[in-house]
Amino acid sequence: MDSLTLLKELTMAPGPPGFEHEVRAVLRRYMASLGRCETDNMGSLITVREGSSTTPRVMLAAHMDEIGFMVTAITKEGFLTFVPLGGWWEHVLLGQRVTVHTANGEVTGVIGSKPPHSLTDEERKKVMEAKDLYIDIGACDENEAKAWVQPGDPVIPVSQFTVMRNGKIVMAKALDDRAGCSLLVEVLTALKDQSHPNTIFATGTVQEEVGLRGAYTACHSVEPHVAIALDVSIAADTPGDSGSEPKEKLGEGPSIILYDASLVPNARLRDYVIAVAKRHAIPFQFGAIRKGGTDGGRIHLHGRGVPTLVICLPTRYIHSHNSVMHLDDYMNTVKLLTEIIKGLDEQTVATFTA
Ligand SMILES: [Zn+2]
Repeated sequence: MDSLTLLKELTMAPGPPGFEHEVRAVLRRYMASLGRCETDNMGSLITVREGSSTTPRVMLAAHMDEIGFMVTAITKEGFLTFVPLGGWWEHVLLGQRVTVHTANGEVTGVIGSKPPHSLTDEERKKVMEAKDLYIDIGACDENEAKAWVQPGDPVIPVSQFTVMRNGKIVMAKALDDRAGCSLLVEVLTALKDQSHPNTIFATGTVQEEVGLRGAYTACHSVEPHVAIALDVSIAADTPGDSGSEPKEKLGEGPSIILYDASLVPNARLRDYVIAVAKRHAIPFQFGAIRKGGTDGGRIHLHGRGVPTLVICLPTRYIHSHNSVMHLDDYMNTVKLLTEIIKGLDEQTVATFTA
């Protein structure tokens, strides 16, 4: 399996929250030979790989959805109004291309923006609100637009998957969290001919970006004894980034997340992971996500509680049309996860809650 092809197929697939079916189809195609695939009624895809023991049940979770939009109405002039699905900063939207996915195929549009010439001094200083933005699909009037688009249709960013000049860095939309989905495939592939003392539930969740919703139901299918959520974190290695410590950098290894706004991780699981990384000389860094949660936030609250940790790929410009990630971090995360899973037997997992 070629990692770049996998990443490209997954990131290029459209899938805002509630519309993950195309992503699921790509993921299922890769997973079919790696385990037993099942879906729940929300649409999460769970691939079960039994190792030498049915327990502990190890949940790996990555979300299939990406931030996008939904058409809410068509104006008399033939423009589309929309609601964001997930957290956008309106600043990154103006003048960007988007694709509306309709029953009649794809319709390309652009989020309209005023040229600087017609902005007042006051307007130049502020960020526009999503409710004041619109999508121009090049329709002459309301009737033409209505023939193509229906309110409720999902909208996604237009962005081309690109390997950057040095061959080590990729730029794409939806690395959040298709990079995590790719990791699910990579880890099951890496473990294909190796024994592991547990059963893995590699879970592609839905609707993470609108409030960790798919993880909530997926846990009922998995009933995990231990969980690792895989996501992207924020690389702060760019000019002028005033983010607080620890500042994550591209190329310095997977991020072990010490804290996110939805989860204080199980400290013993965290320390186990750190020990595994050190033992196998896998580089890692620490991250702290002060604003924003992950699927881990839901999973650790399931049932009587689940020891949970979040491991992230540090990524620049998440929640925009073009995010940037280092392939060394990606490959080191595969290595780290593989070694973590090989050691997660009943006895070890029992120590996390003892
Ligand atoms: Zn994410």
